Amino acid sequence: MSLLLIRGGYLYPADAAASVIPDGAVLARDGRIVAAGPTAEVAALLPPGQRVHTVDASGAMILPGFVNPHWHDLFALRFPFKGALRPAADRGDVAAFMALGGDMPQISMMFDSFTDQIDRLTPGEAVAIARYSMWTQLRSGVTTLGDVGSYNRPEALVAAARELGMRAVVSTWAADAVCAPGQSRFRRTRDTDAVLQRIEALLSATATDPDGLVRARPSAVYCTNMTDELGAGLRDLMDGYGVPFATHVAALRNEAEAMRTYYGATGIRRFADLGLLSPRFMAVHCGFADADERKLLIDAGAHINHSPAKYGPVGESTLTETRVIPELRRAGLDVSLSTDGAALPVGGMAEAMRVTWQSYTEMYADPTEVLPTDALAMATSVAARGLDWADQVGSLEPGKRADVVLVRADDWRYLLNPRPLEGFLTLGGSADVDTVVVGGEVLVAGGRATRLDEAALQADYLRAVGAFSVRCLGVDPDAVAARLRNHDPRGG
Ligand SMILES: [Zn+2]
Repeated sequence: MSLLLIRGGYLYPADAAASVIPDGAVLARDGRIVAAGPTAEVAALLPPGQRVHTVDASGAMILPGFVNPHWHDLFALRFPFKGALRPAADRGDVAAFMALGGDMPQISMMFDSFTDQIDRLTPGEAVAIARYSMWTQLRSGVTTLGDVGSYNRPEALVAAARELGMRAVVSTWAADAVCAPGQSRFRRTRDTDAVLQRIEALLSATATDPDGLVRARPSAVYCTNMTDELGAGLRDLMDGYGVPFATHVAALRNEAEAMRTYYGATGIRRFADLGLLSPRFMAVHCGFADADERKLLIDAGAHINHSPAKYGPVGESTLTETRVIPELRRAGLDVSLSTDGAALPVGGMAEAMRVTWQSYTEMYADPTEVLPTDALAMATSVAARGLDWADQVGSLEPGKRADVVLVRADDWRYLLNPRPLEGFLTLGGSADVDTVVVGGEVLVAGGRATRLDEAALQADYLRAVGAFSVRCLGVDPDAVAARLRNHDPRGG
């Protein structure tokens, strides 16, 4: 039996009452929480004479591990698209495919092209890239990650999650059609059964979950890239395996018109007609649902997820242009936060909480629209419901897994501030995460990995992304080599 006691911090358990306990503690036995509350009460439960691993959290906040239910590993793409080789002084920014309402054919074609590129990663490259990409999430406090399709091999995501010791709901990059430019109807690009077999193999391989770390769910990368046959097959897998489902839908201003042109119906309407709408349906970036679609989502009790720390720099106006997402929250739907994914790191869960707190309150001219504890819930307990994993993760309550994040709250930013979570959302961020615990095991302490060699993680990633970029993406080998020399820990 192993006991872990985290004591003496500002405890925010993200329970239903949104409790805040100024001198709080969490006690875990064999990775499960047995008590969370005032330190004096929790410490009194310790059996005498037992060996206890004690973490002193004085001056820190004790938060549930962050649950990021919408993420993609895209770190294999760091070199193309004006990526890592871009000169630092290059100001030639352009409003690219997601901007100005979205270039739907271009997005659809790009998403379709990913499917075949993924298999060109060698298994070794895939694991090295997944491990580093997922490490950056763990380092910033994410203990449970939800994949909505990655530019990587699903089996590499599974291996990386287990190696890192973090939880993940993995998926596949599922697309079988495109909206080609200048066409008036979608074009099928691959065999639907082959796409479904890949996700079914993953669901089957993760159906038994010995260490409680890895699950799988079907997803459709985008409604613009899904035939009705694929949608129906994904629904059958969702029902057959009793798992949640996620998709990007109603995400961009230009999407509805393109969907009517190429498929004859808008995205949410199609998912409704195919029988996918339910509390297990996660609609990602759902800012452009029309009135009928909003009613369908509300009647079905669907889950809404958004990534507010990512939109602006990409040219998306998902949150403020329509206010659909905050209105769906007002209508009672679960609305959770996420980071999304890109070739370079995007804002983490801390940044998503900050933008949510600041932008929702600003939109409604009402500081009670989203309280700091509401933003925390959207990044933890509400997000866990979206992954259908809330019985085990998302809050610090007895019976749940001991997934915990500590954030220091004792420097100048917090002086005489009685509400440290507010201080964190004002001036803190992902880099302030100090300690990360998954299932009672301390994986990050003092901001450093406890059981992995961070330099090796980075070096393996750089080697893999360099080799893949040269071999498969047509990136100049000399330029890659020159760029990577700057990051050689032996000094090149
Ligand atoms: Zn996404």
